[in-house]
Order: sequence, then C-alpha cells, then structure tokens
Amino acid sequence: MPTNTPAWPARRLVSKLPNVGTTIFTVMSKLATEIGAINLSQGFPGFDCSPELVTLVEHYLRKGFNQYAPMTGVPALREALAQKTTDLYNVSYDPETEITVTSGATEAIFAAVTAVIRPGRDAGPDEVIVFEPAYDSYVPAIELNGGVPVYVTLTPPDYTIDWDVVREKITDKTRLILVNTPHNPTGRVWTTDDLNQLASVVRDRDIWIVSDEVYEHILLDGRQHNSLMTHPDLRERTFIIGSFGKTFHITGWKIGYCLAPADLTTEFRKIHQYLTFSTVTPIQYALADYLKEPERYLSLPVFYERKRDLFLDGIRGSRFTFKPAEGSFFQTVSYAAITDEPDYDLAIRLTKEIGVASIPVSVFYNQKNDYKVLRFCFAKDDAILQEAAERLSRL
Ligand code: PMP
Ligand code: GLN
Repeated sequence: MPTNTPAWPARRLVSKLPNVGTTIFTVMSKLATEIGAINLSQGFPGFDCSPELVTLVEHYLRKGFNQYAPMTGVPALREALAQKTTDLYNVSYDPETEITVTSGATEAIFAAVTAVIRPGRDAGPDEVIVFEPAYDSYVPAIELNGGVPVYVTLTPPDYTIDWDVVREKITDKTRLILVNTPHNPTGRVWTTDDLNQLASVVRDRDIWIVSDEVYEHILLDGRQHNSLMTHPDLRERTFIIGSFGKTFHITGWKIGYCLAPADLTTEFRKIHQYLTFSTVTPIQYALADYLKEPERYLSLPVFYERKRDLFLDGIRGSRFTFKPAEGSFFQTVSYAAITDEPDYDLAIRLTKEIGVASIPVSVFYNQKNDYKVLRFCFAKDDAILQEAAERLSRL
C-alpha cells in the first residue's frame, strides 16, 4: 500500500538539544564505578544524612502523609524557610505568596527560566547573560525556551567578574542574568561589590535574575554568603534558588525551593504546577521539623573547611597548583605544571590509571576552553580524601 508517510523506523525526531549528550557527571561516575576508582567527580556527599532526619521521614511516612502535597509546598516547610531567611539574612519572604517548594533546584531553575524567557518575534529571541564556567542545566533551560545564552567568560585562578565586560554584553534583548554563588565548579563566592555592580547593571532595565544559591551554607574561611536577596534592588527582580540536597547530604531526595517576589512567584508557580505539580510529601514535613535546629546547617562551614584542607594538605607537596575554594564542596586544581594533555583526557586517564575520578572544567565552558583545570569534590570521608590526595601526589 503506497504512502507518502515514511514508515516508523525512517521517521526521525529532530532534536531540540542537538549539542547535548550524556552529562559529564553520569559519564565520570559510571566510569569510576566500573573501574572501582575513588569518585571525586560528581558532586554528592560520600556519607549519609543524619539518622534523625531519616527517623522524621519514616515518622511521616507511617503516619500516612503519603498523598499530594499542596502545589506550593506544605505550609510548615514554607514557614520554616521564611523563618530561616529572616534569621540569617534579615530579609522576609511571605510563605503564602513568595515561597515555593520544588523537586530539586534543577526544577526551580527550569521553572524560573521558563517563566521569563521567550523566543520573541520581530525583535528576536531573549538573551540571557551566563557566566561560564556554568553549571550544566542552565543553557538547556534557556535554549528549550527559545532564548539565547550570551557568555561572560571567567578564567582561572581567580574567576573574578569583569563588570565592564558584563556591561558590554547587555543589549535591549537581555532579559535575564543567571548567577551562582557559591559557585560550582570554581568555588568562588560573590562579594558585596559584585552585588552592587549587578544592581547598577540592571538598574532601570527590564532584566530579571535567577540566583542559584544551592551552596548557601557552605562558605569557607569565615566568609559570609552574600545572597542576592540582601540587596533591596536585587531582591525585587530575583528568583533565589535553594536545595536541601547540598545542605543535609540528601542529593537523592531532590528537594529544593524558590524564593521570589509575589508577582514573580505567581508566574513561577504556573510553570511549576505543570512541570511536577507538587513535591514529595513526607520529606517536606520532615524537613520542616529538621530546620528548627539551625546548628544543623550552621555547622557546615567548619565541617567542609576541614575536609577541603585535608585534601589540599594531601596534594600540597605535588605539582598541582590551586587557590583554596571559597565556598561549595568543590576544589579546582591546575595541572599545567604536570602535563599539557586536554583536561578531559586527563580526567579519564587518572580514573583508569590511578583510580581517582574528577571533572574536567572545560565541560562547563561553551567552547570547551581548556585551562588545564580539574574539579574535585571533597564531600567525602576523610580516609577517601587522604587516599585520593596520596595517589594524585605521585603524579
Ligand atoms: N545548581 C548547582 C550549582 C548544583 O551544583 C546543583 C547540583 N548539585 C544543582 C543546581 C541541582 O540541585 P538539585 O539536585 O537540588 O536539583
Ligand atoms: N551538581 C552535581 C555536580 O556538579 C551533579 C548533579 C548531577 O549529576 N546532575 O557534580
């Protein structure tokens, strides 16, 4: 029977993300597992969360909190987040209209970008300023919404922002700026000057901000977290994104949140309700209880600073060079004095030959800029960090 429609095997779905493959985190973790290597690649704690938190989740599971949560998140958790935000930053968000619980920061980032970015018509697509190296979910979120990423490239060893370059990249089409502090992968932390510069760049412009602050509690060497919400001009145009995954060692639970002024939250929730509708119920109740003791997150700087230092002390005598991470649980390290191999090849080789997996930082750059830098996650048990450092020091 002749037909103009090709048979199924001949039909091909045209990719909306032709340049996207499997994420580097999946590639490196899989290789590390196959080989039995120490995995300092993908960013997740190598230790368990607190048993008290597990007991709380179990309690709510057994009490029958097992149906849909409210679309915006359970009230107790939104209230606990509002309280934490006031206590820590002296900024208030209304739990009813300005706080939304999401299925991880990834969902929140996608919903916030989707709320703002359009493919445009005659004027052309919206533009988004992206500081690179950039976390891998940002650009796909922009592109799936028909936006265009405009890159501001940050370079080692400082990864500081040249605000004149940012100003040059702003056009009438710039609709959004994506911020990440503390920063993955570089560990850099925004200063109050960065906040002031950003505020001056966006003043009198129709530009929104998504601020990914998932490492807000991992600030090292006595630094403070300069949340964008603390600048009044920024608060009113910013979606602040958080995640419990990093804070309570529960990356597998995929639970995050978005704080944003009511008008932005209204639009954010329109997207959220059709992406996931709501987020896992018993965990929300458990986290609302667990947040009541601030020491549970205020202890993180001391905890992670010691781990970072353990790792750095272990490689100090080697030819790797580094600036200690200012925040997050990632340490970047230059191997320029050791070899000029591409960072991707070296990351694979080190996994296979010495059994230590890392992430090549070039993957976080649009043009795969290779500055000979690897990223190591130090959220691991002490003995693992010491063993990894010992192996690396033999290079
Ligand atoms: N933003 C950054 C900078 C991250 O490093 C991560 C993941 N580790 C996320 C967002 C995603 O967080 P979640 O697992 O809560 O989706
Ligand atoms: N955020 C983690 C990292 O940077 C990985 C998350 C993921 O695997 N998608 O390593």
